[in-house]
Amino acid sequence: MLSFETLYSMGHEQVVFFSDSSCNLKAIVAIHNTVLGPALGGTRMWPYASEQEALTDVLRLSRGMTYKASISGLDLGGGKAVIIGDPTKDKSEALFRSYGQFLQSLNGRYITAEDVNTTVADMEHIFTETDNVAGVAQIHGGSGNPSPYTALGVYRGIEASCTKVYGDRSVKGKVISLQGAGQVGRSLGEILHNNGAKIIFTDINEKNIQLFKDTIPSAEFVKSDEIYDVDCDIYAPCALGATVNDQTVERLKCQIVAGAANNQLAEDKHGEILMKRNILYAPDYLVNAGGVMNVSIEFEGWNDDKSKRMVNTIYDTSLNIFALSDKENIPVNKATDKLAEARIESIRKIKGAYVGTNIAPRFPGRKQR
Ligand code: NAD
Repeated sequence: MLSFETLYSMGHEQVVFFSDSSCNLKAIVAIHNTVLGPALGGTRMWPYASEQEALTDVLRLSRGMTYKASISGLDLGGGKAVIIGDPTKDKSEALFRSYGQFLQSLNGRYITAEDVNTTVADMEHIFTETDNVAGVAQIHGGSGNPSPYTALGVYRGIEASCTKVYGDRSVKGKVISLQGAGQVGRSLGEILHNNGAKIIFTDINEKNIQLFKDTIPSAEFVKSDEIYDVDCDIYAPCALGATVNDQTVERLKCQIVAGAANNQLAEDKHGEILMKRNILYAPDYLVNAGGVMNVSIEFEGWNDDKSKRMVNTIYDTSLNIFALSDKENIPVNKATDKLAEARIESIRKIKGAYVGTNIAPRFPGRKQR
């Protein structure tokens, strides 16, 4: 199952299994890289078909967090956790508190937050047992639900893409095909609509479709598979990953792909195909970093202004990446990886310089050696 060969090839530092049969806890934490700081990433709860599937997911997701934190300029490393279980049946106070106690044992090397199927309420239970959790309720000085900040970041990425493609950051009059009318999709749809864009959307969940229609009555609905054929300026994937794939990439009738979903390109080659088709791809793990930026503000005392100020930097970072992609004639996804890796390497190199003066006393009451 888990081999050092896999960990070496993917670059992980540590993988930990937590089990507590009293509350049916089966969790895996993967710490990918802590060069830039403690590993931060959400806890996903999912009824995985097998332990292997859960392990594969957590290894992949934690690696993605390293790149996301790096490109976003955060002093954080990459990590992620999965809890194997059905979120509709298996959640309990005991499960999340037990999980929180285990997290405490990692001594701050990994800090968790919300992810798919985990909520602010779940973070509150974890917070009862450990400080190493972000995204707790705003009433406790936390940052709460990250989705509106993720949506704002995606919007900044879309504006940067418009600047690059049309020479003007405004979305006024642009047609957006939006896939996924969930928490981020709805929030993004609202911002785009309020700034003059026309929205064509799809979803498979009746409740979310209705909520979206209630929020933006002028939005036009299309069936799930029709979204790839919509004549539009911008395709915004906000549902699942890998929607730019062999079956869809030639169908897209847009100039820009920019959305919230993680890992939008099924394979790297799809980034090259988009480039050849003259479709600009906004780097997914940068433009959807608003949520992680928002929780990172908790370490310095969260407030809305500080968070939005950081999320707004996605506009300039996206433009820098587009410029690098042009300069080196490489796809945007490659340019993003290159910048993220370069930052980690440069900081890795300065670690160790004057290390003696950088370490704060860990045992203030004890005599220093
Ligand atoms: P969500 O579950 O609230 O919304 C996802 C929506 O996609 C749901 O309405 C679902 O019905 C719809 N959907 C699923 N399959 C579909 C399909 N085949 N066709 C059309 N619609 C489909 O999730 P969310 O929090 O809005 O996140 C959206 C995406 O953004 C996810 O991929 C998530 O990983 C990513 N993301 C979210 C955040 C955040 O802050 N929430 C941060 C970073 C990345």
